[in-house]
Amino acid sequence: MSKIPMNGVIVELDGDEMTRVLWRQIKEELLLPFVELRTEYYDLGLPNRDATDDRVTSEASHAIRRHRVGVKCATITPNAARMEEYHLKRMYPSPNATLRAILDGTLFRTPITTPCIPCRVPGWQKPITIARHAYGDIYKASEIRVPGKGTATLSFRAEDGTETTKVVREFPAAGVLLSQYNEDASILSFARACFRYALDLGQDLWFSAKDTISGIYDGTFRDVFARVYDEEFRAEFEKRGLKYRYLLIDSAVAGAVTSAGGFVWACKNYDGDVMSDLISAAFGSIAMMTSVLVSPDGCFEYEAAHGTVTDHYRAYQAGKSPSTNPTATIFAWTGAIRKRGELDGNEALRQFADRLEKACLETIEQGVMTEDLTAITGKTPVDCPTFLKAIRAKLEA
Ligand code: NAP
Ligand code: MG
Repeated sequence: MSKIPMNGVIVELDGDEMTRVLWRQIKEELLLPFVELRTEYYDLGLPNRDATDDRVTSEASHAIRRHRVGVKCATITPNAARMEEYHLKRMYPSPNATLRAILDGTLFRTPITTPCIPCRVPGWQKPITIARHAYGDIYKASEIRVPGKGTATLSFRAEDGTETTKVVREFPAAGVLLSQYNEDASILSFARACFRYALDLGQDLWFSAKDTISGIYDGTFRDVFARVYDEEFRAEFEKRGLKYRYLLIDSAVAGAVTSAGGFVWACKNYDGDVMSDLISAAFGSIAMMTSVLVSPDGCFEYEAAHGTVTDHYRAYQAGKSPSTNPTATIFAWTGAIRKRGELDGNEALRQFADRLEKACLETIEQGVMTEDLTAITGKTPVDCPTFLKAIRAKLEA
């Protein structure tokens, strides 16, 4: 069998723990035998982030800007325990936060569905795509531990020196304080990305916030979405019989549960973080959720929605072969490969991505699946290498 050639490059971001193990296995079993894989490799594993003072993360992000397509393995976000475990020089920020800050993107997460994994919310006949504004808010907040009695203020100094100040709280005693921000330009590109993505999928768009409580902050989001809809998308939505709805976050949650699914739900950063886990759990497993970061200037970074699956890695280190589900990581690769094929007009590459996804889903439908899915279907689980070999056999057939 001759391998499919590639012209463009995929920026490859390696990661940590169990997913780093899967990464290598997926490449060896499912990619390298079939494609002349051309990647620009960045090792975002925690030891190398530490060795490079985290420069590797921003270098990788800029490489994605250059080549427009990247694929990322899950990575550890350091905390106090990881500082000790890896003897880190300092507490590095989450690599995903760095990527999002550099690419200023919108994160779209869609469950990977197959008929043999029934949805836990019976009414949801179609997947729900969560669009998460991956910029600012609580992820870029400044926090203060208030030691005792005193005054907290929020202030802004304009370039011309004008100051606006508000008293946040006269603290009677110790407490906590947080401030967060966002920017009109980022909200605007978020709104545009969501309307475009919904049109692409031919689905309604919902946007939820809490403007009744946060008149200025969430009110700005609501107004930007309304303006972008009226000025740029209303005509096309109406022509195609699609709807845009603004909802309060709590009624959106209630409305989503009673809906039939099949829409794009645009969420603010934190809501998107929470809702995407809810959606993936409802549709099966966190390991059945794709994730793509789309930047306003058309760069795409694909990854699995889950983390490095630390508990499985501990078992792996102890000599076991855990039943970790590689599906979302495979779909991260197929997403990047398909996009590369589209951008380069490489039809063979595009078709390979389709074939690999199909082989993966057919393997599951035939009852060969990992433990997270057998917990739902009652079948007998296989380990990850067995699952990958079954997919490869289908690809070769
Ligand atoms: P996690 O790695 O997503 O794992 C949470 C649990 O979900 C696992 O214990 C496992 O449950 C299940 N799970 C996740 N992926 C699975 C898969 N592919 N196959 C089977 N089961 C899977 O989240 P975490 O344990 O909270 O975080 C671990 C590390 O990942 C942390 O250091 C965190 O910083 C990092 N993280 C990275 C990213 C990212 O890079 N995008 C995202 C989230 C977390 P069972 O134990 O029940 O099998
Ligand atoms: Mg989350």
